[in-house]
This record gives sequence, structure tokens and C-alpha cells, in this order.
Amino acid sequence: MSLVFDVKRYAINDGPGIRVTIFLKGCPLSCTWCHNPESIEKTVEKLFTSSKCMGCSACVDACVPNACMLTSEGIVTDYEACLLCGKCAEVCPSGATEMSGKKYQVDEIMEIIKKETLMMDQSDGGVTFSGGEPLSHHELLVNLLDACGEEEIHRCIDTTGYTSEKKLLEVASKCEHFLYDLKVMDDTKHKLHTGVSNVQILKNLELLAKSNVDINIRIPLIKGVNDDLENIKQTAEFINKLEKPPIMVNILPYHNIAQKKYEKLGRLEKFVKMEEPQLKKQEQIIKLFESYGIKAIIGG
Ligand code: SF4
Ligand code: SF4
Repeated sequence: MSLVFDVKRYAINDGPGIRVTIFLKGCPLSCTWCHNPESIEKTVEKLFTSSKCMGCSACVDACVPNACMLTSEGIVTDYEACLLCGKCAEVCPSGATEMSGKKYQVDEIMEIIKKETLMMDQSDGGVTFSGGEPLSHHELLVNLLDACGEEEIHRCIDTTGYTSEKKLLEVASKCEHFLYDLKVMDDTKHKLHTGVSNVQILKNLELLAKSNVDINIRIPLIKGVNDDLENIKQTAEFINKLEKPPIMVNILPYHNIAQKKYEKLGRLEKFVKMEEPQLKKQEQIIKLFESYGIKAIIGG
């Protein structure tokens, strides 16, 4: 079952023009710096923001298995008993309780996308499928890409690249643009910080560069993980061996914004505070890419 956990309209950093971005829930990677922890699990999750809670008990009254309780500590959920039915979120007047992840049919997602046709046409934009990892939802993704193709909507995939060659190439044949993450070149470090090897990811990017799609390479930049010049040199050398160069490299400096999301998910123990890369280092990295003839910018 594929779930959508967010829809962003008027997205300006998810591909060319102004776009609608559909976020699919579930990712095979577990990056230590992930700023969307609600995107990792493929299942529905309950989010709770204690600072928004008014203590009205509407959620407690709505909860059939009594998993939602008002205690001296405030609202507490017994996740063993919780059915993830979402009734508590439906009745919550303040937005303190929310559910992340909703099942949609292809035609329901298309209805959302088609509402923005004018904005997409006027800006040479389109739709972007992001995550989580959109390539983990192959069947749904392929159906959505076909449906967007019939409407002549520009299609972009925002991906970690972690999938099989066969699935990647099928998706590439049905879209126009990829935003492709390159996190860290050293495989041991990659495994340590994302939980998976980068061997298939690099191989997939080589394959993708032989196809017709446009590619932006995106590097989430984290101090002490991948901001060393040796990693950037290896990245630039790898990019220069690709059959077709990317349109550009987008450097995305890490910002510490995820802590609150881990709190809302009740998974604060999983939050790892990483360090933001220094401005001077970011400038050095841009210059280093330029010295290899590769256009690189901060952001995008
Ligand atoms: S999601 Fe359903 S079962 Fe879980 S706490 Fe809310 S109302 Fe209760
Ligand atoms: S319904 Fe919302 S505001 Fe009321 S107690 Fe539950 S979480 Fe708090």
C-alpha cells in the first residue's frame, strides 16, 4: 500500500518552474540527517505536538481502544493499543494531533495535480514525485507518470537512486527530469550514515546519464560527513565521467530543523543533531566544482 504524506503546491525548488510536489511515504535509507523523519516508515503514523494541545479530551473520547489517555503529563498514546485509525486527529480542534500518511488512488492524485495546470503551464513547471523514496512505490509511480504523460504534464522524480536498474530505467522512460541525490562517495561512510551501500546508486546514475532525462545532482551537505574537499573531488571526478553532464549540482546545506518532527513522532531518541557546514566551506566547494567545469550552486 502506497501512502502520500504531503502535497506541496507552488514548489519552486523541486525542479523547473513552479510545481506540485507529491511526497510518497517510505524510504529504504535512514540518513542520520533526515529532515523528514515522517517520510521513512511506509505506514500511517500519529504525530502529536504538546504545545498545541488544549487538554479538551476530545481525542480521548473518540478513541475506541482507549489508546489515547489524558494523564498528569498531558495526552499520552499507548502505541501498542493504537489502531492508527485517525479518529483522534479528526476531532482535535487545535491540530495538536495529526496523522501522517493517507492512501490515495491514482485518479485522486491526478485531480490534485490537474487543479494546478494553469500555474504549471505559465511557469514551465510540472509535477515532482518525492518522498521518502518515490522509486519504492514503483507500481503507483508508473501509473501516475503515465497519467501525467497523457495530460502532457512535465514529470520530475526526486530520488536517492536506491532501486534496481530495471525499475529506474522504466521510470526514466516515463519522465523528463531527475533530481538525484549524491550523499557521500566513500561507501563505508555512506553505509554508516544512510544504512545502505552507494554502489547501486552510483551505477544507476551512470545509467541514467545515458538516457534522455535531464538531471540535477543534489548534495545534502553536512559538516563532518561529506563537506571534506576529498569527498567533493571524488564527486566531481565521478560526475565528469558521466556520459551526459548534469544541468547543475545543487548543494543543500544541512539545517537543524528536524528535532521538533522527531518529538511529534515520539521518536526523539532517534534524532541525531548534525552540524551545519560553514559558509566559507560552502564557497570553497562551489569553487572546487567550478574548477572541474561543473556548474554548482547553493540551494535549488
Ligand atoms: S489513532 Fe485511533 S486508536 Fe490511535 S490514539 Fe487515535 S483514535 Fe485512538
Ligand atoms: S483533541 Fe487535540 S487539543 Fe484536545 S486534548 Fe486531544 S490533542 Fe489536545
